[in-house]
Amino acid sequence: MIPIPFEYARATSLDDALAKLTATNGDGKFIAGGHSLVPLMKLRLTEPKVLIDIARVPDLSGIREKDGRIEIGACTVHHDVSSSALLREHCPVVSDTAAEIGDPQVRNRGTLGGSLAHADPSADYPAVMLAVDAEIHVKGPKGWRVAKADDFFKDLFTVDLSPDEIIVGARFAPVRAAAYAKLRQRASHYAVVGVAAALDVSQGKIRSARIGLTGAGPHAVRLRTVEQALAGQALSTETIEAAARVAGTDVKVVNGDIHASAEYRRAMIPVFTRRALKGAMARA
Ligand SMILES: Cc1cc2nc3c(=O)[nH]c(=O)nc-3n(C[C@H](O)[C@H](O)[C@H](O)COP(=O)(O)OP(=O)(O)OC[C@H]3O[C@@H](n4cnc5c(N)ncnc54)[C@H](O)[C@@H]3O)c2cc1C
Repeated sequence: MIPIPFEYARATSLDDALAKLTATNGDGKFIAGGHSLVPLMKLRLTEPKVLIDIARVPDLSGIREKDGRIEIGACTVHHDVSSSALLREHCPVVSDTAAEIGDPQVRNRGTLGGSLAHADPSADYPAVMLAVDAEIHVKGPKGWRVAKADDFFKDLFTVDLSPDEIIVGARFAPVRAAAYAKLRQRASHYAVVGVAAALDVSQGKIRSARIGLTGAGPHAVRLRTVEQALAGQALSTETIEAAARVAGTDVKVVNGDIHASAEYRRAMIPVFTRRALKGAMARA
C-alpha cells in the first residue's frame, strides 16, 4: 500500500529537530533509519503528515567514552555499533548484539534510537540495554531527562517517551563479562527469544548479575529469579546450569504467534539463558 501524502524536513541539529517537531502540532514524527516507520506508514498503521529526518544530525551519531562510561548516539546505525573498536574492546556484548540484527541493509540504516523508541517486542537492543543497566537520555520541550532501561520498556511498542520527546542516546558503564544469545526468526532475524547476560565477577565469585530477556513477552524484562540464583555463587558451569533452569519461571506473559507458540518460546528461555551465561562466563 502507499502511505498518505506527507511533508519531509531534514533537521540540522538536535534543537532544530525538536523545534520542527513542535511546529507540526502533533502531526509529525521523527524518521531515523525508516526501517520500522516506513513499513507502518505503508500499511497505514501510522499516518504522520510531516516526517522530520534526524539521521544526519551530527550531535546524534557516534560512540564515545566519557568519564568511564560509553555513550552511543541515538542515530548511530547498527553497523557502526557492531564494528566499533571501543565497544569490541570494552563492552563486546553491545557490538555482538548489533551484529545479529537483521541483514546488512537493515544494519546500515537502522538506528539504536529508532529501535528503542519503536520497542518491537522482538527487538534485540532492549535485552542488552537492560543487561548493561543503560540510561536512555531524552530531550523534549521541558528539557533533558534520563530514563533507566529498567523503567523504559513499558508494554508492547510502548516506552517511557512522550510524542514530543527525542531519544538522544544511551549511556552505560562497560561490562566485559557479558554475552547475548538469541533464537532468530529465519527470515527477519528478529529474536524469537533473546537473552543478554552480564556478570560482575570478583575472585571467582559472581557478585551480581543482570539478565535481559527479549522476544518472549510484550516487552523486554529482566530475569530476576536467574539473577538471584547467581548472586554470591562461585562462577562455575554448575552454577550456570542451576540458574538457567529457573529462567522464565517468573515471566508471566509469553507471546505465541506464527513464528513460535507460547509453549515453545517458554521452553527456549532457559536454553538461551544458559547460552548467554556461558558466553558471559567465557569473558569473565
Ligand atoms: C527486514 C528487517 C529485519 C529486521 N531485523 C531486526 C532484527 O533482527 N533485530 C532487531 O532488533 N531489529 C530488526 N529490525 C528493525 C530495525 O532494527 C529497525 O531499524 C529499528 O527497529 C528501527 O530503527 P530505525 O532507525 O529504522 O527507526 P525508524 O523506522 O526511523 O523509526 C521508528 C520509530 O522510532 C521513532 N524514532 C526514531 N528515532 C527516534 C529518536 N531518536 N527519538 C525518538 N523517536 C525516534 C520514529 O518516529 C518511529 O516512530 C528489522 C527491520 C527490518 C525491516
